[in-house]
Amino acid sequence: MTHPKILAVLAHPDDETLGFGGTLARYAALGSETHLICATRGQRGWFGAPDDYPGPDALGAIREGELRDAAQILNLRSVQLLNYMDGELDQVEPPTIIHQLANYIRCIRPQVILTFDPYGVYGHPDHIAIAQFTTAAVVEAASSSPGNELPPHRVEALYYRVLTAAELAAYQSAFGKLVMTINGVERQATPWPDWAVSTRIDTGAYVPQVWQAVRAHCSQLPGNERLLALPTPEQQAIFGAQTFYRTFSFATAGYQQETELFQNEWIAVSA
Ligand SMILES: [Zn+2]
Repeated sequence: MTHPKILAVLAHPDDETLGFGGTLARYAALGSETHLICATRGQRGWFGAPDDYPGPDALGAIREGELRDAAQILNLRSVQLLNYMDGELDQVEPPTIIHQLANYIRCIRPQVILTFDPYGVYGHPDHIAIAQFTTAAVVEAASSSPGNELPPHRVEALYYRVLTAAELAAYQSAFGKLVMTINGVERQATPWPDWAVSTRIDTGAYVPQVWQAVRAHCSQLPGNERLLALPTPEQQAIFGAQTFYRTFSFATAGYQQETELFQNEWIAVSA
């Protein structure tokens, strides 16, 4: 039996663990191929003293290694790094990266794609940019484009990862207030209303695995100290369930909240 393939398209090493780890681990355990495209190497995510910053290339190499370790822990089938600069994803020429992502979608041919929500969780410009590029790439991948050797591919569903108020409160108790200041304007994390959550995945059994993946991102551990010190009930509050907004799906509609990213009949069809 072949289970549907899932592709997560994200911005930084550690997004896959902190934002999507439970879901990716769960579906890998259930037999799905899980794939990751990470648009940057997180070259600017430095928590040490400024004088100790090894530079973007060296830090990017370190973080790529950490990402590959985390990917192994989460049982990802493949990881593709695109090598755009951390913090500058919103300045990439859209046609270039959209075309690049569309070609990966045509190669991997996933049924389900996961990315950030249009607010980028807390207004992070890289997260917002990758959500926009991925959404456009899903459309391009499905279109017939003369000259492209790869046949078009239509994904069955696209999901945005969303935080509910409860999950955000748990996150903020661990990380502090999730906030970014862009052009002098403070952007705070924006919870989605519970009624807009289309899909809630039970990831409680995979919290220890996610924890191990968090620890694989060694260079980021100073930023995650409060997270790793959390007692088990709070760990479960953050990683015990993951919520998504179904941006579109060819398989399902309506407002009933679902507990899976895909429908059982897909498994039967592809068996
Ligand atoms: Zn990120």
